[in-house]
Amino acid sequence: MNEIDLQDYPCPLPLVKAKTILSEMKEGEDVTFVINHRYRLENLEGLIKAQSQEIIEEKETANEVFSIKVRKKTIRHFENCMVCAKPLEYLTSSARAVCQYCGKEGDAYIICPNKHFVCDDCHLEPCIEQITNSVLTTGSKDPIEIAEHLMSLDKMSMIGPEHHPIVAASLLAALKNSDKLRITDEKIREGIKRAKKLTSGYIDGCCTAAMSIGVVIVVITNATCVSDRERSLAHRAAARGLEAIALEGGPRCCKSSVRAAIYEAVGFLNEFFDAGLNAKRMEKACAYSKKHDYCKKSRCRFFGK
Ligand SMILES: [Zn+2]
Ligand SMILES: [Zn+2]
Repeated sequence: MNEIDLQDYPCPLPLVKAKTILSEMKEGEDVTFVINHRYRLENLEGLIKAQSQEIIEEKETANEVFSIKVRKKTIRHFENCMVCAKPLEYLTSSARAVCQYCGKEGDAYIICPNKHFVCDDCHLEPCIEQITNSVLTTGSKDPIEIAEHLMSLDKMSMIGPEHHPIVAASLLAALKNSDKLRITDEKIREGIKRAKKLTSGYIDGCCTAAMSIGVVIVVITNATCVSDRERSLAHRAAARGLEAIALEGGPRCCKSSVRAAIYEAVGFLNEFFDAGLNAKRMEKACAYSKKHDYCKKSRCRFFGK
């Protein structure tokens, strides 16, 4: 998709067509619209600005003929719909929808009133590099301190599957820095690679932040699906994480689930692996209480005023 000639279309078709093309473009992609008559150019500029897209270049190529080059910008809201920030709707059965960022069709369980859908990959991918770089360079031995920093990174959303690798990444980095279980950078990368495959809780019915603890045990013990004790330990750790998240109650909050999973994992790792980990307490210290539509407020032990 490079140059789109809108000159031969009667009004309002140039705008309708431009709107469709912009909605189908992926972030970072460029398109050049060619349009005639200044008033039509101004209408097109209005549309592009209303969509917060970036005009890269604009010129008059002949008398009353204009070319306008637009780059699809990455708009990512932290709260609610990543695209338009409207409150999200939660479906009990999936609807087919096209991801606003990558254009892939998928099963949507969460959608906004404007029918925006963002797939798990598009939630995760921009965060993975930031998470990886951060945990490979941190010197912290406290998995909660590491996780809180990761959750504050600018690519993170309030809610989303990008929280699942944070559990494994924070625990493995803290173990590496504690110098107890011979955790290497390669093991941390392996943990992130596995944990980013964990799907969203709305698909599985249960929050897979708990499975991220299982990933940590598998990475520590080099377990495979044919291992005996190691596989058993991974399941027990994940089960304890799931129980801990369950006891936090609902509605779900990814920040709360990450903390509950990590506290449980610290207990498990200290008990079975003599890991000697400590995690700072976050009771009444959550920085996200006002940013989450479904915050349990005083019913959440982390609720910060
Ligand atoms: Zn939206
Ligand atoms: Zn996508």
